Amino acid sequence: MAVSTRPTSGDSPARRYRARHSRTQILRHVSQAIFAGIILTAAVVHNLSTMDGATPSIDALCPFGGFETLWTWIVSGGSFVPKTHLSNLVLAAGLLLAVLVSGGAFCGWVCPFGALQDALNWVRTRLRIPEIHVPQALDRVLRYGRYVVLTLILYKTATTVTLMFADIDPYRTLFSLEWLFDFNPTEHLTAYVAALVVVVGSLLVERAWCRYLCPLGGAISLLGNLSLLRIRRAEATCKDCALCERPCPVKLNVANAETISSNCIGCLACVQACPRHDTLAVQLAPAWLPRRKTPVAQPSTGD
Ligand code: SF4
Ligand code: SF4
Repeated sequence: MAVSTRPTSGDSPARRYRARHSRTQILRHVSQAIFAGIILTAAVVHNLSTMDGATPSIDALCPFGGFETLWTWIVSGGSFVPKTHLSNLVLAAGLLLAVLVSGGAFCGWVCPFGALQDALNWVRTRLRIPEIHVPQALDRVLRYGRYVVLTLILYKTATTVTLMFADIDPYRTLFSLEWLFDFNPTEHLTAYVAALVVVVGSLLVERAWCRYLCPLGGAISLLGNLSLLRIRRAEATCKDCALCERPCPVKLNVANAETISSNCIGCLACVQACPRHDTLAVQLAPAWLPRRKTPVAQPSTGD
């Protein structure tokens, strides 16, 4: 099965620009705005509520909380790490299913923190602030940061049965809106500084948090190796122009890959940017299945 969302002819810069902002990207941004809106609404309602526990906090709406509490829930026969709930486990199970089908699309279409970073990147381009490009060798090393953070958090949560890092989690600091309703630099200085560093970092380096530090992104990337849908590149029709790599928010190697890395967030910008029909396409082709040989064929469009 191939799902191509890219234009069918021409490859002028103007066309590529339009392609980047085509219907798929608008749909993606609408989806991101809806999920960010849900989380922010829950945060406002929770902050305005005068009764303890009457409304869910954003902690209860985070799938990562499900991964954090899973071990405790299993070994204790149904208890939860404080601040996590059954809703976290349900959301984690839903996310797991989604990842097994569509890889990292959660990060490109759902996660409010991803949406915030896309918004920061938009602000950076509007303000003409130069982007910092991390050298490839350093980028490769820094990407392991997510797995280090993931391992540390899961280990510490399982052994201490507390969310040790929740108080400095930049996602929680920013989206709980407690800084707005109850600004308290004396008590939360570390959390504010951590959130500020991540915001400034993501303003200067596109999707810096997602690429280097997010533990949930790390878990999604590991599980994404099993996903049914993957973006594949047909070597036979690829003209090695690397236009597909330019719009990639997480700076992946698309132009030389056969199957795109499980770090992909499924934004489909590369598929749209490719000037050759069906050279990049989402395929029902899990990486663990043997590959079908791509027939050598004449390109149908693009030159
Ligand atoms: S990597 Fe983390 S912060 Fe980024 S979009 Fe994915 S879950 Fe959200
Ligand atoms: S590889 Fe393509 S679909 Fe994946 S994140 Fe990069 S541009 Fe988006």
